[in-house]
Amino acid sequence: MKAVTGWAVVTGAGNGIGAVITRHAVKAGYRVAAWDVDEKAVTALAAELGASCVGTAVDVTDEEAVNAAMAALPEAPKLVVNNAGVVRFGPLLDLSVADWRAAVEVNLTGTFLVSRAAARRMIDAGGGAIVNISSINGIAAAPNAGAYTASKAAVIKLTEHMALEWGDAGIRVNAVAPGLINAGMSEPIFADPEVRALRQGRVPMGRLGSADDVAETVMYLGSPKAAYVTAQTIAVDGGITASALHKMPR
Ligand code: ADP
Repeated sequence: MKAVTGWAVVTGAGNGIGAVITRHAVKAGYRVAAWDVDEKAVTALAAELGASCVGTAVDVTDEEAVNAAMAALPEAPKLVVNNAGVVRFGPLLDLSVADWRAAVEVNLTGTFLVSRAAARRMIDAGGGAIVNISSINGIAAAPNAGAYTASKAAVIKLTEHMALEWGDAGIRVNAVAPGLINAGMSEPIFADPEVRALRQGRVPMGRLGSADDVAETVMYLGSPKAAYVTAQTIAVDGGITASALHKMPR
């Protein structure tokens, strides 16, 4: 059996990319604290993964709940993955303040609250790694996702800031920016064959990404292989953020 690597916290672990990241973390030897507002999903995942995974209902926007769940860990986490997220589609002209706030609260404030609670424990323990799930929307604006785009761009800058503040405490903070991933919140979009063909045609690698593609990069950034990597954002996107001129006629 693989040696236990320590505790990892994965937020938004109940579904989609978060559930796959949780599986990868367990495989890598972590004991995973899997947090999600979707208690049913996270409980089912933990039941399936056994002793290596503890599922807890935690809303990342709830400061007290986050602090309590972090304090309940038997030791400081070695790895924290801020993956909980929501998207609210619609042009800004029609976007409600409630939808704006939902995206900013979960994607940005949640990342701040969980990272701060983790860093307080990691500092005492001599360090750790934080990986924030941003999005290619945080790098290049896309239509109909203004609040999501703004929140995910802010996650990139928050990542850099946390890396600067906590670097000398041995805490590395990086971000992953998933591209067109055929899982989680994007999966229904790609269910339409026409939409799928159109979108993957924009990807230089010519295919959609998988949750495993994202999870592999998260695990790399969390591991000692990335010991001198901090304040970075790695796009896992098949090249799409570099593709403004892709397939343009010369
Ligand atoms: P993706 O995997 O593409 O990010 P999903 O919607 O499948 O999309 O996954 C996002 C996860 O984040 C869901 O399991 C959802 O319940 C969770 N989530 C959303 N809001 C919160 C929150 N406030 N606190 C914790 N988890 C959340």
